[in-house]
Formats: sequence, C-alpha cells, structure tokens
Amino acid sequence: MQTMAIVGASLAGISAARAARAQGFAGRLVLIGDEPHRPYDRPPLSKDFLAGKMTPEHLRLESPEDGEGADPLQAEWLLGAAARSLDAATRTVTLDDGTEIKADSVVIATGAYARTLPELAGLANVFTLRTLHDAQDLAPELVPGARLVIVGGGFIGAEVASTARALGVEVTVICSGAVPLSRPLGAEMAGTLAALHEINGVELICDASIESYYSGEGVVSGLRLADGRYVPADVVLVAIGAEPNTAWLAGSGLELGDGVLCDPMGRTNAPGVVAVGDCAAWLDEDSGEHRRVEHWSGATERPALAVTALLEPGAVRQPLNLPYFWSDQYNVRIQFAGHARDADRVDIEAGDPAAHSFVAVYYRGGQPVAVLGANQPRLFTKWRRQLNAERAVATQATAAAAQPVLAASPSFI
Ligand code: FAD
Ligand code: NAP
Repeated sequence: MQTMAIVGASLAGISAARAARAQGFAGRLVLIGDEPHRPYDRPPLSKDFLAGKMTPEHLRLESPEDGEGADPLQAEWLLGAAARSLDAATRTVTLDDGTEIKADSVVIATGAYARTLPELAGLANVFTLRTLHDAQDLAPELVPGARLVIVGGGFIGAEVASTARALGVEVTVICSGAVPLSRPLGAEMAGTLAALHEINGVELICDASIESYYSGEGVVSGLRLADGRYVPADVVLVAIGAEPNTAWLAGSGLELGDGVLCDPMGRTNAPGVVAVGDCAAWLDEDSGEHRRVEHWSGATERPALAVTALLEPGAVRQPLNLPYFWSDQYNVRIQFAGHARDADRVDIEAGDPAAHSFVAVYYRGGQPVAVLGANQPRLFTKWRRQLNAERAVATQATAAAAQPVLAASPSFI
C-alpha cells in the first residue's frame, strides 16, 4: 500500500493517522480537512473554552506522543480543502478545487455538522456549536444578565446551560422530551440529573414545542410556545443534534444510511475504504443495527480497528469497547458506557441520586448492559472495565465459533 488518504482532519482523522503509523504504515499519508486549523478537541468548546478558561492553543490534539519535529506523523496536510466527491471503486478523492488524490486506501472521518432551524437562518443572535469558530462567536454573548434560550435538551444544551449559568447568564432550556438527555441515559436516570438545572437556576421547559419566533432588525427577540407561553431571548443557541457529513459521498458507490454503513471493524461495502468517528455507522452485532457513536472515545478508539482492517485485509474481528461518554455539568462528572435503550431495568448500585453522586447499572434480562456514574469515577470505571471484559470474551467466543466454518469454506481449500 503506497497511499492512504484520510478525509476529515479532526479527532477520528488524526486517530487513524496515528494508528496507521503505529501499525507500521510507512507510505504516503494524506490528511484532508475543510477547516483551516490543525486538529483540535471539541469537548472543551461547550465547557472550559466557552467559559474563557482555555485558548485555542490548549485545544490542539497533536501532542508529544506524536513524536518530535514539525510534522511528526510525516503526513501531507491539506487544510482548508473540502473533499467534494469520492469514487470508491478507484479510491479517488476529488477536492473542491478539482485536485484529485488517488489512494490505495481511504479513511472517511468527516464527522458531523450541527442541525439548524431554517426559520432562524441569518439572524445575528442565533448560534449553533460545533466548531472553534462557533464557540468564538458564542462566547462574547455569554455576559452576566444576558437571556440565553437554548433550544434542545441534549448534550450541548445541558453543558452550555451549565457553563452559561456559571458566567451569570439567565438560561432557559426548551426541551422537546420529558427531561434533558432522556435518549442517552434513559428517562429514569435522566430525570434524576435534570434536577441539576433547576437547582442551579436554569428555567427548564420540558415537553415543549415552539410555535413561532419573534424577530426584527436581523435578530430574534423571543419565541412563543405551543402552550401560549412567551420566552424572551437576547441570544438563542440551537442545539438540536448533529447530522453526519456524508453529502459529499452521494454517488460514491458507498452504502449510506444515518452515516456511512460499515461492518463491526469499519469496513464499508467498497474494498479499501473504511469510515470512523461521528460520520460512521458501524454494525452493532448485539442489536443488528448500524449505529453512529457520537462521542470522543469512539472517534479515538475505533480508528485503530479500521486501520487494521485496511492494513491486514484478512484481520479477524477484534473486541470493541462499549460506547462511552462523559459530560461535565454543574461540577458533576457524568460518565456512561453502553446503550441505555438496550436495558429493561436500572438499579442504583451505590450512592444517592438525590445527592448527584451514584452509580446505576442497566440490565437486560438480568445481564448488566450499561453503567452510569455521577461523580463516582472509580466505581464507574470498575463497572466499565468489567462490562468491556465480558464483551471481549463474548466477541472472542463468536469469532472462535466462526473459525471452523471459515476453514471448511471452499474458498479456503
Ligand atoms: P469531527 O470532530 O466533527 O471532525 C470532522 C472533521 O471533518 C471536521 O473538521 C470537519 O470540518 C471535516 N470535514 C467535514 N466534511 C469534510 C469534507 N467534505 N472534506 C474535508 N473535511 C471535512 N464527546 C464526549 O465523549 N464527551 C464530551 O464531553 C464531548 N463534548 C463535546 C462538545 C462539543 C461542543 C461537541 C461539538 C462535541 C463533543 N463531544 C464530546 C463529541 C466529540 O467531540 C465528537 O464525537 C468528536 O469530535 C468526533 O470526531 P470526528 O473526527 O469523528 O468528527
Ligand atoms: P444531541 O445530544 O443529539 O441532542 C439533541 C436534542 O435536541 C435532543 O434532546 C433532541 O430530542 C432535541 N431535538 C431534536 N430535534 C429538535 C427540534 N427540532 N426541536 C427541539 N429539540 C429537538 O445533540 P446536541 O446536544 O446538539 O449535540 C450535538 C452533537 O455533539 C451530538 O453528536 C452529541 O453527541 C455531541 N456532544 C456530545 C457531548 C458529550 O458526549 N458529552 C457533549 C456535547 C456534544 P430527541 O432526543 O427527543 O430527538
């Protein structure tokens, strides 16, 4: 293999580049990114960076681990360069300026973009939060006394509410569900953490739907809810989820769904093309569904497996850790591993939800399938390790069971 092209120069892209070099790939490595920046870390954008406690330099993802020198990964960096299309059969990436990069293998790592509300397009006090620029635009608006309305009760909604309250901002969160974060944590446990918002002075409006927005002179001044309530706003943050950046892959020959459809090692339907990070929907063999994992650890751990699949075409499936995320809200560190929706029961293993310090274990048919920790990092980590170890044993047993079938297959005789 002479050339590996990685499209998307952020967390999953740099993780793939590191994995390629660590696994002995000595060929030409081309990293293509449409942002002008070297790879940077997004989690602080809703937390310490937004709070003014970090500078862009603190966000850099390149570290001494990458080695010494100006270009330790020995990569060709094409930054500020958007990939316009891919021909998966010939593994040719075409950039916006018409440049063609022909590669022996392609890693798709184009992440996701923030959903917007078309009715608020172009208004000066309406923001989304995905990029460094977004955070730099939003931060100056978070001044004491400003009225921030956050549309969306997901991760960004919850984290920015916490950051903004600490800055003295008046915050209202408009949540379409019964409580924030009910999808990732399950309604029961999300309910226990939702109280944090109210304790910290956030107005939380749940089961809400927005009927109309009031705007004039290029800004939005408030919104009307379906129940008739009027919510005034100086600043609006739209935090209603992220969509995978796959439009550029239309016509590429790759199978697309909610992301690039992949097997459990990141292989797409095209030989020599893998997908990683937020844009990739790997097959989850437990559920039989393709699922995107929109969290930091997925974009960090999974690229190594996908690179192995590229460099060793016959590589057997390796154990995959359970999806994991953390979230920092109001000085509470929330950690979660697994999928809440797989569970039929949740038990409090330790601590007290009312004190926002606890570990909860999620079960399906009596088997633990997920774990949630709030300010309990040690016990949470113990459970997470145990769940991952059980999963690894199960993966190896499945692989071993498949082995005789492979050996007897005519193509191997
Ligand atoms: P991205 O980081 O989205 O990077 C994709 C890159 O590809 C971008 O630079 C994009 O511009 C580029 N690109 C897109 N299209 C093209 C194209 N056609 N050509 C070239 N380049 C292209 N996770 C946690 O677990 N914990 C947290 O606390 C946490 N906090 C977060 C806070 C914020 C504000 C955000 C936005 C995310 C947070 N996450 C967190 C999630 C985590 O940051 C993401 O899962 C991770 O960034 C995904 O990495 P990625 O490389 O797959 O995608
Ligand atoms: P998110 O976590 O997916 O949450 C989006 C929220 O918006 C959900 O509560 C969703 O409700 C709601 N919603 C969807 N459409 C809506 C609409 N039209 N009007 C009102 N509400 C709507 O997305 P996010 O908070 O915007 O974050 C963006 C991305 O960054 C995600 O990939 C997220 O995982 C990632 N991120 C992760 C972390 C972390 O891991 N700590 C932190 C920040 C960001 P339903 O669930 O009912 O659809």
